[in-house]
Amino acid sequence: MKKSIGRLFVSLLISILLSSVVFASSLQLKKDAKNLEAYISHPEQLAAAQAKLAVLETKTGKKPNIVIILVDDMGWGDPGVYGGGAAIGAPTPVMDRLAYSGLKLTSAYSQPTCTPTRASLLTGRLPIRHGLYRPPIWGEKGGITDEVILASLLAEVGYKTAVFGKWHLGTDKNQQPQNKGFDESIIMDEGSPKFYVATNYKEKLPEIYFDPELKAFFNRVKKKRPGLMKANKGEKAELVLEINWDTIPTLDQKFADYSIDFINRMAKQDDPFFLFHSFTKVHEPSAPSKEFEGKSPAKQPFQDSLMEVDAIIDRIIGALKENNLEENTMVLLISDNGPDEDQFPDMGHTPFRGAKGSTWDGGVRVPAIFWWPGMIAPMRTSDGLFDFTDIFNTVLSIAGAKDMLPSDRYIDGVDQTSFLLTDNGESNRSAVFMYTLKDLTAVRWREWKKHQMVAVIGDGNYAAGIGTKNDAKMVRTPGLNIMNLYIDNKERISMGQEKSWTIAFFGKLIKDHRASLVAYPPKKAIVTMP
Ligand code: CA
Repeated sequence: MKKSIGRLFVSLLISILLSSVVFASSLQLKKDAKNLEAYISHPEQLAAAQAKLAVLETKTGKKPNIVIILVDDMGWGDPGVYGGGAAIGAPTPVMDRLAYSGLKLTSAYSQPTCTPTRASLLTGRLPIRHGLYRPPIWGEKGGITDEVILASLLAEVGYKTAVFGKWHLGTDKNQQPQNKGFDESIIMDEGSPKFYVATNYKEKLPEIYFDPELKAFFNRVKKKRPGLMKANKGEKAELVLEINWDTIPTLDQKFADYSIDFINRMAKQDDPFFLFHSFTKVHEPSAPSKEFEGKSPAKQPFQDSLMEVDAIIDRIIGALKENNLEENTMVLLISDNGPDEDQFPDMGHTPFRGAKGSTWDGGVRVPAIFWWPGMIAPMRTSDGLFDFTDIFNTVLSIAGAKDMLPSDRYIDGVDQTSFLLTDNGESNRSAVFMYTLKDLTAVRWREWKKHQMVAVIGDGNYAAGIGTKNDAKMVRTPGLNIMNLYIDNKERISMGQEKSWTIAFFGKLIKDHRASLVAYPPKKAIVTMP
């Protein structure tokens, strides 16, 4: 009797100990190296994903192709599958179908603006580390510097690499894609085609149109790179198409032609490829091509443009299918930031608070769809956290090049291969750190979001972006500004007092993040007026 009570006690103790170990390990993060972000480890899921990749490689005899389709300024609420589409007068059957036949993420995070997002997905690093806190505007100096670029690493392991579309990572020679690891490139340098026609844009930019000095400045800048620039690796870029009022509506169809031509050529050779297709749409000013003008139910330029984007994605996916490449190609469809609400009515949509430029969710929580028939199960939706820096690590991992991860600098991305490729895969990311310029303004952890600083706007304004139109200012919060995004997706009510237990977790995450910035000092802002 005594013995059996003793045994019972021991087994009870073991089970208590075990459950506490499981509990602790569920919050325990794994860190592979000092310069790599800690992550949530799912060893069984990772093994399953790797086994899947190995089977595919045996079948195809090569590493998978990667296609990133980046839409500009498309909001979370624009594609039909996210709640937009027909509801906003712009059906998006192609994006919807991609999502239904793949994985739709509901908590994927970009940076608040164009350039920081592009630099982050190509480097695996937050803007505070790569230095591109904000986009260079027409005529400004600054672009991607001495960063290790995803395309270069993929090229080193035998990938053919190409970028077609909006670049916006700098115009200096050493910032151009042919010197950043891309074998082929045809790009628009700037953030918006409107700057190329700024001297001739009386309706929207009369202050430039009627000012000889400003006109001269804009012309001087345009003279250097007046339109789409083409270059193969290491070459001097040459002009292939001037950007003017006639060509602006055609740009995205042209970029699609280039991408499709690249896909067709790649299908005939043995190396895997990496294609970065970067739309100029649906950034303002919306200029649909003739074929799409007035064709959306909304009959508005933005909605026409969104439908054109959808049709172009169909062309690109069609090219993959015609070449029987879909089995060995991972396609990622994302947007680079939230809708630009300062451009009403030429703007996208979001159900969240805030818009482009802000770290309210409306500015940074964007559509992200992964499509890879046979590798990513259809009809999957996940709220698992995904930061666009993760694209860097995940693509390297899928390309079998994980050992190429830089060791001399901090990498904020984590490998999400097991999350994407396992049928019930869970995110490997613990938290998302959100910056407005140099300031850490918000942190997302699970369904909770803690604001350090918020953009506050005046009364009676329709927009809540960074507020160029709305007298917005950044205000430091008292520290308990914590929202539950499941029950308050507009981030209106702080529950920090009631849910004060979350403070400890946020405190630890922020402390570790700040320590990484001490160990690896941030880069100063590198965008400046010449
Ligand atoms: Ca953008």
